[in-house]
Amino acid sequence: MPARSANHLAKKRAIVHQWIDSRSIKRPGKLCENSRMNIDFRQAAFITSVPKADRAPPDEGAEAAFAGRSNAGKSSALNAISEQRGLARTSKTPGRTQQINFFDLGENHRLVDLPGFGYARVPQAMKQQWQRNLTEYLHIRQSLRGLILLMDCRHPLTRYDQQILMWCADAGLAVHILLTKSDKLKRGPAGNCLLAVRRRLPEFHPGASVQLFSALKKTGIDEARQVLSDWLCSG
Ligand code: GDP
Repeated sequence: MPARSANHLAKKRAIVHQWIDSRSIKRPGKLCENSRMNIDFRQAAFITSVPKADRAPPDEGAEAAFAGRSNAGKSSALNAISEQRGLARTSKTPGRTQQINFFDLGENHRLVDLPGFGYARVPQAMKQQWQRNLTEYLHIRQSLRGLILLMDCRHPLTRYDQQILMWCADAGLAVHILLTKSDKLKRGPAGNCLLAVRRRLPEFHPGASVQLFSALKKTGIDEARQVLSDWLCSG
């Protein structure tokens, strides 16, 4: 590599690292004792649906939210992680699709299903209202430890995904990406997709992590559960 571009890259990396330090991304601090896989996601139970963050259950304990474009595989991922076929059906009930759905995991831990974004047919004013609700939720919710962002592995990092990543970076919130439906790609292309997304992430959210996931083949579930457990059990 020519000396000039190597220098340029080193400088860019230093800036990103300084940025991460200065943002104090809400990463898990000290893990609670025996936190390795100690949350039983199979006990997830629906609590409530609310239109806005100010109507949410008390902001105490710890929660992790799921977001993604509609059809990205969010409901399937929630069902796979909780081993409950019908858990995320709640979120597909007419009238609740644009609501924030809360699921109890016991001991004041919660999973939160955020409305799918990017519906082509939704009027502009409604999209803007939802955008305001989402950014408000991401910014004000003290118990929110991190966001699981779902992207179809065949169409990752859309404009909407980039926007969410930047909002989360701005709010100092940890993000873990599930590249869903990975069974639709052969091993080589799936690995390439993972690397390509990982390489581009610092442009949008320097602290974000990413993995492959298939609800159909049940792959990537333990890795996702581990991230969730670490977040929810962090101090
Ligand atoms: P949501 O709108 O983000 O909640 O997406 P859904 O979970 O409803 O999934 C959208 C579509 O993708 C459905 O037809 C699912 O059957 C399909 N899908 C979800 N996960 C997978 C997966 O891991 N593999 C495959 N092949 N299809 C999936």
